[in-house]
Amino acid sequence: MKKIALLCLCISFLANAYTQTDLPELNLLKSELEAHMRFLASDELQGRRTGEAGIEIAARYIASQWQALGVQAANDGSYMQAVDLQEVNPMEEATFTWNKTDFTQGNNLMMLTGDDLNVDTKAVFANHGWVDKAAGINDYDGLDVEGKIVVTLSGKADDNSPMATFTSIRAKRDFAKEHGAIAVIEVFKMNPSFWKRAVGYFSKSRLEIATPEGGAAYGWVLPSDSGIAKDLKAGKKKKVSLKTGKAQITKIPADNIVGIIEGSDPALKEEYVLLSAHYDHVGTGKKGGGAFTAQDSIFNGARDNAIGTVALLAASKVFSQTPPKRSVILLACTAEEVGLLGSRYYADNPLVPLKQTIFNLNCDGGGYNDTGAVAVIGLDRVGAKQEILDGAAAFDLKVIGDPAPEQGLFDRSDNVSFASKGIPAPNFAPGMSDFNEEIMKYYHQVADNPDTIDYDYLHKFCQAYVHTARLIANKDKLPFWATGDKYEAAGKALYNKE
Ligand SMILES: [Zn+2]
Repeated sequence: MKKIALLCLCISFLANAYTQTDLPELNLLKSELEAHMRFLASDELQGRRTGEAGIEIAARYIASQWQALGVQAANDGSYMQAVDLQEVNPMEEATFTWNKTDFTQGNNLMMLTGDDLNVDTKAVFANHGWVDKAAGINDYDGLDVEGKIVVTLSGKADDNSPMATFTSIRAKRDFAKEHGAIAVIEVFKMNPSFWKRAVGYFSKSRLEIATPEGGAAYGWVLPSDSGIAKDLKAGKKKKVSLKTGKAQITKIPADNIVGIIEGSDPALKEEYVLLSAHYDHVGTGKKGGGAFTAQDSIFNGARDNAIGTVALLAASKVFSQTPPKRSVILLACTAEEVGLLGSRYYADNPLVPLKQTIFNLNCDGGGYNDTGAVAVIGLDRVGAKQEILDGAAAFDLKVIGDPAPEQGLFDRSDNVSFASKGIPAPNFAPGMSDFNEEIMKYYHQVADNPDTIDYDYLHKFCQAYVHTARLIANKDKLPFWATGDKYEAAGKALYNKE
C-alpha cells in the first residue's frame, strides 16, 4: 500500500509540474491524427453502423488507445457501457375505433409498438399523460385507467415540438403501464405534412433504447380526421376498440465507450468536463440510405464523425499526459445516427453524477467548407464564449456561431441529450459557413472518405478542440446558460441554483 501511495504522489507531482505551462504546446502530430482517421473511416469498418461488426472494431480501437494512454475505465473496470437497443418493426395492421370512426394503420393511425391486442374498452383522457412529481405534474391524478386506453395530447405542456413528442414516448408508456392502462393513443399535434413524414419514418424498422417486455401499446392518431380533440375537451366518455398486430422486436448490442482522466487540482477534481463525440455512422449500401454506386457503397463517415472521434482521441492523449484542473470524462457515443440514442442512454445512466458534470463539449459535424474556422453551435448560450474564441484563436481559427439557425442544429446532435438535463453543452464542429454544395457533396455520402480530408486542417481543428476543452476545464467561474435560454431552468434544477 505504501509503495502505491508513494508512486501516486510522484505521479501527481509530475502531473502538477506539467500543468504549469499554459501555452498550447500540444503534443499532437498530424501523422497520428491522420492514422486514427484512416483507421476509423477505413472501408474495413464498413461505415460503423450500429449493431454491425464494423462499429465493434471501432469501439475496440478507441478503448485500446485509452488503455495504452492509461485513461481510467469509467464503468467498473471497463471502458464499455452496454447500451441495450432494440430494433422495432411496427405492426403492419392496426385499427382504433372511436365513436364509430375507424383509424387505420399508416393512414390516420400510427401504432409504434406493443403486443397484439383485440379489446373493446373505455378511453380516458389524461391531458399530456405526463408525471413529474418534482414539478407538481400528475396527469393521472384521480383517473381510473385500469384496463383502459389512455388518450393524451402529444408532447408536454410546455413543449409539443416533434423532439419532445419523440423523446417522451418511453416515459409516457411507463406512466400508462404503472397506472394499469393497456395502451396510450396520442393526438398528434403537428401539421399534416409533418404527419406524412412521421408515418413514413416510423413505418420502417427503427432502433430505440430497449424497453421492458409487456409495456403499454403506443400510437398516434391524426386529430384532423376526427372529433377526438373536441370530444375530449367536452369531457365526453367514449367506448373504443383497438385491434393491432404485434411489433417485431430484436435486441441489438451497442456500446458507449467511457474513460476518465482525473483533474490536477484537488479542489476542483470532483467537477467534470464531459468531452463527447459519436463514433457510429450509417453503414453501407441501401442501409446507409444515401446514393451509392457499384464502385463504392461504403459510407465511411470521415467527417461525420471520425473527425470528432479523432478530436476526442487527441484530447485523451493530451490530457492523460497533462491533465487540466478539473477532471475529464471521455465519452464516445454509439447510435447517434439513429436518434442520439447512445448519448441519451448515458444522460439517463451517467457513470459520474450529472450534477458534477459542469460542461459538455460535444464534437460532431456534417463537414466543412471554411478551413479558417470552427463552427460552435451554442457559442453565445453556454457561458464559455471567451474560452471558445481563445481556444480557436490559438490555432489561427475564427469561430462561426450557428451557420444555419433555421436548421435547429443545436438540438440535432448528442449535445442536446446533456443540454436537456441542464448541462451547458455546445457542439464544436468543423468550419461550416453555410449548407452549400461543398457540404452536400460529402454529407452522408460515400465520398466522405479519408482520402478527401484536409489533414492540415484536421490537425488545427483537433488542437483547437483540445485547447478549448482545457480552458473550460481550468476556468475559474463555472459556465452556465445565458439568461432566458430554453435550457436555463433545467440547469438551475440540476445544479440547485437560484
Ligand atoms: Zn454526426
